[in-house]
Amino acid sequence: MKRFRKKSPWILHYNAGSCNGCDIEILACLSPKYDVERFGMINTGNPKQSDILLITGPVTKRSRERLVEIYTQMPEPKVVVCCGSCASTGGVFREMYNVEGGVDQVIPVDVYVPGCACRPEQIIDGVVKALAILEQKTKNIEKAVKFSNDPIEEDGQVNRRVMPASINK
Ligand code: SF4
Repeated sequence: MKRFRKKSPWILHYNAGSCNGCDIEILACLSPKYDVERFGMINTGNPKQSDILLITGPVTKRSRERLVEIYTQMPEPKVVVCCGSCASTGGVFREMYNVEGGVDQVIPVDVYVPGCACRPEQIIDGVVKALAILEQKTKNIEKAVKFSNDPIEEDGQVNRRVMPASINK
């Protein structure tokens, strides 16, 4: 599963309130010219099957709830990439009456891609960085569930008293 996730991560694109400039650049990445699918990526519309969340635009008050919902629906491990200065800091929309701010005001962010609009090469670079983070997060999760001691069996049943202390080592 780990190998497949690294070779074929599924991405989800969400517009939290952008002017569509960065969205067009993301779509350009999927075109044959930049061809992000050579990294095995597929743009999917289902958060429950996605590994990488690409977000454009500042978080508006209306989109905040949906963004949090999408983020919580994605399975662990997951990586969040902010595309463009609006997603990173609020950009030109910062401190407007209907804007909450950058994405990191609402959910944790792993990669920031600068630019207004961010160029396709920068987005691809950010997504490749996200792949490395995704691999590291996968390793951390696997490490957390490994037990340093084998569980003891007593009378045909697993003795769970010895197990919690050895988690996270
Ligand atoms: S960073 Fe620039 S192009 Fe991207 S959403 Fe903001 S204003 Fe539009």
